[in-house]
Amino acid sequence: MNENAKTIIIGLDGVPFEMIKNFAETGVMPNVAKVISQGIFKKMNSSIPEVSSVAWSSMITGLNPGGHGTYGFMDLLPNTYKMTFPNFTTLKAAPFWDQWPGKSIIINIPSTYPVRQMNGVLISGFVSIDFEKSVYPKSLIPVLKDLDYRLDVDSQKAHTSMDLFLEDVDKTLDARIEAYRYLWDNWDWQTFMLVFTGTDRLMHFLWDAYEDKDHQYHDLFLNHFRKIDAAIGEILGKISDNDLLIMHSDHGFEGIEKEVYLNYLLEAEGLLEYKQNTDPAINNICFGTKAFALDPARIYLNYKGKYPCGSVELWQSEEILAKLEKILSALEYEGKKVIRDIYRKERIYSGPYLDNAPDLTLVGNTGFDLKAKVKVNNLFGKAIFTGKHTQDTAFLLIKPLKDESIVPDVPTVSDIKGIVEKS
Ligand SMILES: [Zn+2]
Repeated sequence: MNENAKTIIIGLDGVPFEMIKNFAETGVMPNVAKVISQGIFKKMNSSIPEVSSVAWSSMITGLNPGGHGTYGFMDLLPNTYKMTFPNFTTLKAAPFWDQWPGKSIIINIPSTYPVRQMNGVLISGFVSIDFEKSVYPKSLIPVLKDLDYRLDVDSQKAHTSMDLFLEDVDKTLDARIEAYRYLWDNWDWQTFMLVFTGTDRLMHFLWDAYEDKDHQYHDLFLNHFRKIDAAIGEILGKISDNDLLIMHSDHGFEGIEKEVYLNYLLEAEGLLEYKQNTDPAINNICFGTKAFALDPARIYLNYKGKYPCGSVELWQSEEILAKLEKILSALEYEGKKVIRDIYRKERIYSGPYLDNAPDLTLVGNTGFDLKAKVKVNNLFGKAIFTGKHTQDTAFLLIKPLKDESIVPDVPTVSDIKGIVEKS
């Protein structure tokens, strides 16, 4: 890579390897097909758990959750059972744009809210609450408002009207593309990162529309990807052969056969109890509790001293963990094993924030969406979602690079840049 080469990173939230391959082969994404023919294209593992807040935080910092401190979309405030959203303020490690030379333009990476000063432009992604705190520098706010820029799709709409939801997905994508054009042309930059997240929302609600060609929304689903591909084509036309182009997803996706409610299971096994005359809620856990789950598939021992109603002593942990592993690995639905992997924290995490890690993190088998939902009447169920994240089917596409054996299983953007600079 020569010194003037630019780095362009395009993120497609949740898009699985097989889908992008299929769209490249069937003409839905001809520009992606062009990139595939010029670079390396491979399946990539996501973080554990395979949730966007964790996966993107790992990609941009180059660290695992033990190093950056984000273990899930939600977490508990220290010494309480109260939920909080980890965000850019609580991220314990620097993103690549604070370390790389030159100016960066960063658009829509999940968990980068609230924005802070940096050398370039940062427009935060999911979850961004206040527009004023989602854009750096502030002088860009009126420009983005003029473009009708939207921080995220309003997924609530899908619960009342799929048509309104799809309209929102489309408008959000249009505005995102307008914002990238404006910043690409009018700002000075060395690194440009643009993340599309409507893909994830579409797949959660309409995975069935992807798989079923006769589904009423099948074409609309494909059109979303056609539009993204056109933007990719536009970008290809503006970059040189020396520039580094990375495209990747943060996790994969597949259809849901059943949702699996882990706290229901823990309660049924006598490991989780709520205070008398209260609703089932993590906030209402009582002293009898040995373990509880947080989304997406994280199990915590209810340690004495760590939680207000903690009762587990350190010396008891091995026995409880072994019991949990036995129960979880035996769990079946219609003869199929529900859980693929059970990880103790020391096995997959390392770093100064290991203490905050879940004691067990699970990865579901194909079709099983592991959830921490509490107000449920059964161990297995199905809600509005038809698609779920997968841990081992994200994709990675790098141009120009030919030898895929030199790319690690879960590379970070800094790894990739390092490899290309050396090659
Ligand atoms: Zn998702």
